[in-house]
Amino acid sequence: MKLYNSLTRSKDDFIPRFEGKVSMYTCGPTVYHYAHIGNLRSYIMEDVLEKYLRFSGYDVKRVMNITDVGHLSSDGDTGDDKMLKGAKREHKSVMEIANFYTKAFFEDCKKLNIKTPDVIEPATSCIDEFIRVIASLIEKGFAYEAGGNIYFDTSKLDKYYVFNDFNEEDLAVGVREGVEEDGNKRNKADFVLWFTKSKFDDQELKWDSPWGVGYPGWHIECSCISMKNLGEYLDLHCGGIDNAFPHHTNEIAQSEAYLGHEWCNYWFHVHHLNTDSGKMSKSKGEFLTVSLLEEKGYSPLVYRFFCLQSHYRKSLVFSWENLDNAAAAYRKLTAKIASVLDGSGDLNEEAYSSLKKRFTDALDNDLNTALAVTALYDVLKAETSNAVKLKLINEFDRVLSLGLVEAAQKTASEGTGDADDDIPEEVKALAEQRKAARKDKNFALADEIRDKISALGYTVTETREGTKITKA
Ligand code: AMP
Ligand code: ZN
Repeated sequence: MKLYNSLTRSKDDFIPRFEGKVSMYTCGPTVYHYAHIGNLRSYIMEDVLEKYLRFSGYDVKRVMNITDVGHLSSDGDTGDDKMLKGAKREHKSVMEIANFYTKAFFEDCKKLNIKTPDVIEPATSCIDEFIRVIASLIEKGFAYEAGGNIYFDTSKLDKYYVFNDFNEEDLAVGVREGVEEDGNKRNKADFVLWFTKSKFDDQELKWDSPWGVGYPGWHIECSCISMKNLGEYLDLHCGGIDNAFPHHTNEIAQSEAYLGHEWCNYWFHVHHLNTDSGKMSKSKGEFLTVSLLEEKGYSPLVYRFFCLQSHYRKSLVFSWENLDNAAAAYRKLTAKIASVLDGSGDLNEEAYSSLKKRFTDALDNDLNTALAVTALYDVLKAETSNAVKLKLINEFDRVLSLGLVEAAQKTASEGTGDADDDIPEEVKALAEQRKAARKDKNFALADEIRDKISALGYTVTETREGTKITKA
């Protein structure tokens, strides 16, 4: 498989250090709020990558941290602690906030068919490990104490800026929003490993350490949680593109300084989900969640499908219109699959292999999920038996995880297929939204949608066989 590696800035052959095994680390969520669908784009694409590696025969061990301490408002060392901000907003303790939003995150993941990683570690459960590594960095001369905090000394490295092909916008994320210079730092790029003093509101959670009572910086947690669970060599590290600098840059700096050798070979970065007004972000206040999509009548798997239709290294623009198109395409796709569910006919090996190759070729080429989805359409169009088609759809969906067969079975049993191609997509999308609203017992919304459908010249009725749309 070829995978774009941010470290070499090229599509490289993916070759793990130990044959047949892949160690994979993912930066987990900062649990001070719900994940927005931008965050979840990153987790969806990483999920496809993990599943495709397993599909290709690798034994994958995937580790994810949960950031429940140390992530400040800027991705550098300034601003309030995000967890503290969340706790104040909701008049709860930091741990209550962390538990609530960790649970919410995994519920969203489940709805999006994102597999739970093999190991999940909250930062607050690894404090001893952080202290041990920080003490070693001081001993090795890579860290220093100043003004009560411990800093990593970036001037001790031959090369600090390892990912230097990012555009200004991505680099700016780490140094945004009224950053004040921290006079304790010997070099501008130095970063905090352990705080005992902050200019901003103090942490609620603190621990004793050789340098005084305090709390860890954000970056050290990922290095330590990865090394603790995956050892001193890591094959693959993932995250959103905004994490590349300063977070991943700092992770590399401290891990390699601590280990005394290179640490991680492949860096996989997912580009952003944007709206008309720019990057979707929690700090902007308004953001879209999985629950909101559901409230509006969209299945979370439609959002997953929307994400898979574009390449992870391109930024993706979210709009309701784009999501409606994905909903319509998903419905059409599953309606087509409903017609091959009987799995009849012979299993022609040649047809099976050549169609499967289109799928693996697409994903082998830097995880081209858009082409992998096209390969799925190719299967449905192919002149071959339903047996071949159904087998391939089931196999592809081990990676795509779009719930295709389940959705097709539902379509078949409810009779909500797209037999009538004369009905405009817009009307079909509205009918789906109305169905969801009725299911949620939101009859006011259901009526409102029915009126919209009528205005377009169609009538929608619920029958025992499912939703029926007819021209008025
Ligand atoms: P956070 O919870 O802020 O620590 O972010 C969780 C993950 O989401 C990280 O890997 C981020 O890089 C990623 N992320 C943040 N914003 C976006 C976005 N708009 N689109 C895609 N990924 C994002
Ligand atoms: Zn991280």
